[in-house]
Amino acid sequence: MSCVGTLEKEWVVLMAKHVTEMKPDYTQAMDIRGKATTVCPCGSQIWNLKTIFGDDGEIDMYFLDMECAECGTLATAPTPIDTEEE
Ligand SMILES: [Zn+2]
Repeated sequence: MSCVGTLEKEWVVLMAKHVTEMKPDYTQAMDIRGKATTVCPCGSQIWNLKTIFGDDGEIDMYFLDMECAECGTLATAPTPIDTEEE
């Protein structure tokens, strides 16, 4: 199986659950706020966070407090400064 095939299969599995059905169960939720992260300890890369869109349709700003869409863990969203090379 090629890497592309693997990615496509994972994407299909990911999308098997409709976005409106993605609600955290909170039984394993933690609070790891502080250091910016993109992946939850549970493995999920999908976050619920609050954002504001600009008139051009782009994301104008977002709040740094975010919640894992799978388990409800609270975390800190990354910013461009967090991903800059040293
Ligand atoms: Zn999680």
